[in-house]
Amino acid sequence: MTRTVAGRTDHVVVVGAGLAGLSAALHLLGAGRRVTVVEREGGPGGRAGRRDLDGYRIDTGPTVLTMPDLADEAFAAVGGSLRERVELVPLHPAYRARFADGSSLDVHTGAEAMATEVERFAGPREAAGYLRLRDWLERLHRAQMRRFIDANFDSPLGLLTADLARLAALGGFGRLDARVGRFLRDERLRRVFTFQALYAGVPPARALAAYAVIAYMDTVAGVYFPRGGMHALPRAMADAAAEAGAELRYGHEVTRLERSGDRITAVVTDRDRVPCDAVVLTPDLPVAYRLLGRTPRRPVRLRHSPSAVVLHLGTDRTWPQLAHHTLSFGAAWHTTFDELTRTGRLMSDPSLLITRPTATDPGLAPPGRHLHYVLAPCPNTDIGPGAAAWTDLAPGYRDGLLRELERRGLAGLGSAIEAECLVTPAAWYAQGLAAGTPFATAHTFAQTGPFRPRNLVRGTENAVLAGCGTTPGVGVPTVLLSGKLAAARITGGPRRPRVPHDTTQEASA
Ligand SMILES: Cc1cc2nc3c(=O)[nH]c(=O)nc-3n(C[C@H](O)[C@H](O)[C@H](O)COP(=O)(O)OP(=O)(O)OC[C@H]3O[C@@H](n4cnc5c(N)ncnc54)[C@H](O)[C@@H]3O)c2cc1C
Repeated sequence: MTRTVAGRTDHVVVVGAGLAGLSAALHLLGAGRRVTVVEREGGPGGRAGRRDLDGYRIDTGPTVLTMPDLADEAFAAVGGSLRERVELVPLHPAYRARFADGSSLDVHTGAEAMATEVERFAGPREAAGYLRLRDWLERLHRAQMRRFIDANFDSPLGLLTADLARLAALGGFGRLDARVGRFLRDERLRRVFTFQALYAGVPPARALAAYAVIAYMDTVAGVYFPRGGMHALPRAMADAAAEAGAELRYGHEVTRLERSGDRITAVVTDRDRVPCDAVVLTPDLPVAYRLLGRTPRRPVRLRHSPSAVVLHLGTDRTWPQLAHHTLSFGAAWHTTFDELTRTGRLMSDPSLLITRPTATDPGLAPPGRHLHYVLAPCPNTDIGPGAAAWTDLAPGYRDGLLRELERRGLAGLGSAIEAECLVTPAAWYAQGLAAGTPFATAHTFAQTGPFRPRNLVRGTENAVLAGCGTTPGVGVPTVLLSGKLAAARITGGPRRPRVPHDTTQEASA
């Protein structure tokens, strides 16, 4: 049994209507709590936001939706379901990977379809390696999900279970790159199953192999797109919360918390004061700590993930070589990660994610028009150019990106643009996000699992953290879990059925 907050918890104020806050709200409502959600913006979503630009409906944040069942759990908490509110389109292929040598691979989530594609791409030995990798990914996911990811920890000692031995036997504590290399020799294929480490903010050569669980999520479990765009998900969660009785107060910025001893007694906003029995804080970690008046001391300063530049383009044409999601890899690889995480230089030979949501939902653009979302990872403002420097850098970086995309086959991209919007680390910084990154603290070993900033904070009895800065971490599936875990810290439940010992997990690759 893990710790729960002490005393009365009848009325809970959730600060922030991003995915973590909305997930917490739904799980709390399901457990019979009265819930008030206080959000500084004019609507829900947080980083999963929406911007309307000349008739183009732009998702400002996540584009890759995996593990929708975790969102479904939040709806189920109030007796609903995700699918009754959001139409999910499974993406086939999940990604298209395009390489600097001109080759291209479609990432299918079906085992047979992907093995056939890998064989076409790199021969039968690699196809056999892929199938063994897939089996390992499935076992790794089973070993981790309910015990290490979907779990509250009170201390690292909480890890010392048979499950830890199982994860170790699977090679989860080795390095991701090396582990995937045991299955696949082709360097291009290895990229397809290790680039996800960047989502965790760590180069594949240094990331724990356990983070292959992200590759499981998108290459095995599948990638989905909500019709209406990713923002349809937080919108639907907010609607479900309101219908289940939550009060949602938008346009209210929390400025401080009132205390009586170790308890928070009210949340004070720029407009009013909301008395509470307990509070869930989902703003970026430094903001949450400032509100609590206490930043836990850590032996080493927190390290943040790389950031990103996002170029949103509304165009009058598109390019058939683009799938819904296209990974456009540069020739460079280790240098790219070095630039992003160590030297702090902008990528000299960029690897990019190009998303074309109108491939699945043409309604997101005016008739006959197309949306392209280009995500270019970049160093965060701690190690790379500072927020102020981006004002000068931005125009040149945008032009360079367009030139590079044209060189990689999107001929005429520059002249096809009708509407555009460039988001740089300066914008993330202006939103109050530490190190100018929307991807929070990196998932280094020292910032993973029970070593990641905890969701309970010493010195305050009735406050719980949720969101990407705390456990389990960054990304849509994980922040949905963080909301559920925060709710469980308050309600003590739901009780989990005992997981029978799974002997299939023990064999190593
Ligand atoms: C460009 C981009 C691309 C991404 N791509 C993916 C992807 O493809 N797949 C994936 O899984 N993940 C992706 N992510 C990550 C994912 O979107 C985030 O991890 C997740 O949305 C964070 O949710 P959260 O609830 O923790 O934080 P937030 O969404 O930031 O929610 C916190 C909320 O608190 C509010 N708030 C802050 N301070 C206050 C205050 N003082 N008073 C009141 N309210 C306050 C904020 O306005 C915000 O709404 C991406 C993120 C970005 C930005």
